[in-house]
Amino acid sequence: MEITTVGELLHWSYANLAMAHSAITAKAEKYGRIQFMIRSRLYAGLNKQTLNTGSLADDERLKMVLPQACCYCGSRDFLSADHLIPTKRGGANTGDNLVWACRSCNSSKCAHDALEWLAEKNQFPPILLLRRYLKLAIEISHERNLMNVPIAAAPEVPFSLPAIPRAFPPPSQLRLWVVEIA
Ligand SMILES: [Zn+2]
Repeated sequence: MEITTVGELLHWSYANLAMAHSAITAKAEKYGRIQFMIRSRLYAGLNKQTLNTGSLADDERLKMVLPQACCYCGSRDFLSADHLIPTKRGGANTGDNLVWACRSCNSSKCAHDALEWLAEKNQFPPILLLRRYLKLAIEISHERNLMNVPIAAAPEVPFSLPAIPRAFPPPSQLRLWVVEIA
């Protein structure tokens, strides 16, 4: 898969996310024909703009339904709001960008990027957390007209371009959310 532009990278990652989400929902051990089809159709559709990622409204609704827990470790103690894309790097100060984090994760993560911080700990982000991150990153890239810019030529952005996952672990190693959801 040749990925050149910021948009292609974000769309490829989002298409893989949909593939993974489908496999987890189907309780599949590995990716099958249906999941690969979902990925290739979504990737092509996102690049051609015949499909879109859907608004963050779905993710916001989910926030109301999911148990209130630290989005990084699942703890329910000493929770506070954390900016998924750090405002220090230019992340928006909006509800879309807010997640729950416990005191311990908050202080250890500090102003680090969430994906970079999880990667340092050898953790692949839960699918629904990554979904929010990718949607925010796509929104920022549209606002700044970066979707067609080659990755190598991209200016500094509020999210982490190097940390956007291009390959996903098998579904058996992935989690939908940090805590079990029904
Ligand atoms: Zn935590």
